Amino acid sequence: MIFDPQHRKNVRSARISMALFRLSQAIKKVTQEESDVIGLSPVQVQALLFCQYTRSDVATVGNFASTIGTTHVTAVKIVNGLVSKGLISKVQKSDDRRVTLLQLTSAGIEIIPKLENWGHVLEEALHPISDIMLANLELGLGSIISSLEDRGHLTVAEPCLGCIHFHPNVGETAQPHYCDLIHKYLTHQASLQQCPEHTPLSKPKA
Ligand code: SF4
Repeated sequence: MIFDPQHRKNVRSARISMALFRLSQAIKKVTQEESDVIGLSPVQVQALLFCQYTRSDVATVGNFASTIGTTHVTAVKIVNGLVSKGLISKVQKSDDRRVTLLQLTSAGIEIIPKLENWGHVLEEALHPISDIMLANLELGLGSIISSLEDRGHLTVAEPCLGCIHFHPNVGETAQPHYCDLIHKYLTHQASLQQCPEHTPLSKPKA
């Protein structure tokens, strides 16, 4: 039981689990404060950033729900709140009208620069830590994220580079890259957007 300090004394995984739990509490607090300044909730900010950085053809409510680790119903409520504020619009996917895609409206696009520093308090907290320690931390955290992903607790969306399905520079100039998962050629810009199907070439060892 990670909340039992005596147990933590003897078990490293319990100590690290508790550290991660405390981190999650701190992150919740700082992102709430950063969101209050903008007049949005942290999940609303995440929805706007999801629309901004996710490849447009996979920016679905379902993928948003997976990204923030919530249910579809909760994600719909968050999105509907932003639709009422005029920041997000819902459009049907052109080649599959059963799928609804999320897009920033012009008002949503205008608000994005205000979100540029969202998360900076967390990043600044890492500045005093040495590079070598951060490199080790990155490896360790990568393993934890990978393990959580394998257990279905987390979805990690990343751009195409480093994905096993990515075939760069095999097509025409307008759409130079190919994805063998969705069997489509991609523009360079699309390949730089986050994709929830990203499958890393090499996963950090658990
Ligand atoms: S599956 Fe991989 S290669 Fe295909 S679009 Fe997603 S990230 Fe890019």
